[in-house]
Amino acid sequence: MTENEETGPGILYVAATPIGNLEDITLRCLRVLGDVDLIAAEDTRHTRKLLTHFQISTPLISYYREKETERSPQLIQRLLDGESIALVSDAGTPGISDPGAVLVAAAHRNQIRVVPLPGPSAVTTALSAAGITKPHFLFLGFAPKKKSQRRTLLTSLTDSPWSLVFYESPRRIEGLLTDILAIMGDRDCFWGRELTKTYEDLHKGPVSSLLEHASGGYSRGEFVLVIEPGSMVRAEGENLQELLVWYRDNTSLSLKDVSRKLAGDLGLSRSRVYQEALGIYKKKNDSHS
Ligand code: SAM
Repeated sequence: MTENEETGPGILYVAATPIGNLEDITLRCLRVLGDVDLIAAEDTRHTRKLLTHFQISTPLISYYREKETERSPQLIQRLLDGESIALVSDAGTPGISDPGAVLVAAAHRNQIRVVPLPGPSAVTTALSAAGITKPHFLFLGFAPKKKSQRRTLLTSLTDSPWSLVFYESPRRIEGLLTDILAIMGDRDCFWGRELTKTYEDLHKGPVSSLLEHASGGYSRGEFVLVIEPGSMVRAEGENLQELLVWYRDNTSLSLKDVSRKLAGDLGLSRSRVYQEALGIYKKKNDSHS
């Protein structure tokens, strides 16, 4: 049985599948893939192999990037008619640098229940192994293929206080690392290559060392690259946090007043200081509750 016991529209399940190691599929995902009426897959041949491995014989229909707009109304109609559908991509979580969003948005518009089935994604897998101590990151998916656009994007992100996460192919990893070194300096970086697969390769160090590692060229392997904030931004962030803790513990100023004061003193944007302050003040409240 799917999770919809009532009659009426079916459910759209958004199902995460392994990014390499088949053992990473969840029990819930296997049950749902076996129970639904239809599986909408980015590449039906690819997903057929997964289903065969787990002895699942649910019918498949293709749902790939170029077909999203055309295919969605047809799938929505089937959902409205009461069928349940699981949406999967070739690897990881649909909608994360993969097709899916068009169908999911249409389901919401049509009051069709959307049920996400959490599971593997390269971005969370890489971050879990990257040892990034700051809690915030900015996920950017694939960098632009054109060098000029890529460089413009990196320039705009140079002062980001957050770690930056990119997906990259083996053909372009060297180009991306070269641009990072040229534009952002020798930042601390991390790459997760072939995550969960036999030749899994994790590498953490300055971007120059990653570039050296990559310069032999990679014919295969997929990358997640994490770039840590520059040292200026990091130092400023640490200083800001210390000051916020001091003001919180030693003055009766409100969170708003402290944010206004420190933004002025340090020449930072008020909203950024306010966001940081919220976290610091919440920590204290949480420890008292
Ligand atoms: N939807 C997927 C997810 O949730 O991670 C991402 C799909 S995107 C089209 C494919 C990219 O994800 C690859 O080019 C690579 O950058 C990254 N990726 C996927 N599997 C990976 C793996 N096993 N190791 C490292 N990166 C991976």
